Amino acid sequence: MRHIAVIGSGPAGYYTAEGCLRQFGDGVRVDILDRLPVPYGLIRTGVAPDHQSIKGVSRRYEATALSDNIRFVGNVTVGRDVTIAELTDLYDAVVLATGAPSDRTLDIPGDDLPGVIGSAAFVGWYNGHPDFAGLAPPLHGPGAVVVGAGNVALDVARILAKTGDEFAGSDIVAHALGQLGEHEIETVTILARRGPHQIAMTPKELGELGGLSRAVPVVDPADLPPEHLDAALDPGVRKSVAHLRAFADRGDDKPITVAFDFYAMPIRIEGGAHVERVIVERTRIEPDGRTVGTGETYAIPAAMVVACIGYRTPPIEGVPYDTKLGRFANVEGRIAPGLYAVGWARRGPTGTIGTNRPDGFLTAEHIAADTVADSDKAGRAGLDMLLADRGVDIVTFRDWQAIERAEIANARAGAPREKFVAVKAMLAARDR
Ligand code: NAP
Repeated sequence: MRHIAVIGSGPAGYYTAEGCLRQFGDGVRVDILDRLPVPYGLIRTGVAPDHQSIKGVSRRYEATALSDNIRFVGNVTVGRDVTIAELTDLYDAVVLATGAPSDRTLDIPGDDLPGVIGSAAFVGWYNGHPDFAGLAPPLHGPGAVVVGAGNVALDVARILAKTGDEFAGSDIVAHALGQLGEHEIETVTILARRGPHQIAMTPKELGELGGLSRAVPVVDPADLPPEHLDAALDPGVRKSVAHLRAFADRGDDKPITVAFDFYAMPIRIEGGAHVERVIVERTRIEPDGRTVGTGETYAIPAAMVVACIGYRTPPIEGVPYDTKLGRFANVEGRIAPGLYAVGWARRGPTGTIGTNRPDGFLTAEHIAADTVADSDKAGRAGLDMLLADRGVDIVTFRDWQAIERAEIANARAGAPREKFVAVKAMLAARDR
């Protein structure tokens, strides 16, 4: 028998558990700890609510969770309820699958003004993450600025652009649906500090922006490189650039404009009590690939700025941390004997959900190579004693299933669920 603790119940955590089942079969007990009473991490609170087919991957994690050898231990905060040192004493391997839930900051003057929001907070708000349910983003327009040219920027722009009807079938939480349906934003400007050829938005997601009912994507043809240069691009980027070229050809008029502003770097945010405008500097790309400011500046009026420029993994006391990269210091997932990192906590915030599968499986291989069966570790019995002593109210997978049933029962017509957005409400929804 091997005793393994995985911290974090998102994709990386569940793929690690699945990898351990493949690796050790019945000879393993995996406890998946999460600070929330609900599992699945970014699948629940990161993936856009109107991307239900992507969220469907949680059914695969559920199959893993229902194995007798895997246990969900929710509502347990590592660092507060139990320490990493205690966990490494109790388990043969401890795997940090804590993701990268903290926003990277813009680090420009004015980035602390009310109305400047990180994407983790904004996405968490419309997805019902308990930490951000009370965010109240300033949606009073007429302008909003989204910084970054990745898929998160695209999610944020699309969510701001959609009508209430376009959220049919989604699990966007009621507080966000109400506020988004009523906002007065007329222009959502996407600031990309490099050009169309450097776009990090993927084609399927970018294409969606072209089919919205009240919003039109706009690209300045002058920003597009000569078309023959597209041939040298990676096929995915080439397809994204084809969408941008199509957007540049559109002349339709709709109430909301999603304006792509390429070669545009925010250098300052100005306002009194809250954001009023973003000062942007034009950029150019040097022959060596560096992006530099040209000195030409202009202002974009905005009541809200959402920075979608990447994430960091919060450090945990006593765990080696790479401050520059914003993740745990590790070599191929190994941090220290018996301690591992997986997913975004290992490699930073890149890749799709599926990228975490080989990552989780590799972690299980490392554990197999580094540990022996039948050590004297106490495993889950030891954890249960310790948490009971401390009065920690743990949430089991069965409890989560009761919470999920209540969320499904509360859903508005056509929606898959209405999420509880407060930990208290989640705990109260258990069958107890
Ligand atoms: P990302 O793809 O790394 O994009 C970050 C963007 O922020 C880049 O355009 C980057 O520009 C820009 N940026 C970084 N620092 C900046 C600064 N100081 N000022 C201005 N711009 C700055 O990250 P992401 O959008 O957060 O996505 C994270 C991962 O999740 C990605 O792998 C993404 O594909 C994935 N994801 C996928 C989906 C989906 O498939 N539907 C949805 C959401 C997220 P440079 O390129 O110039 O550095």
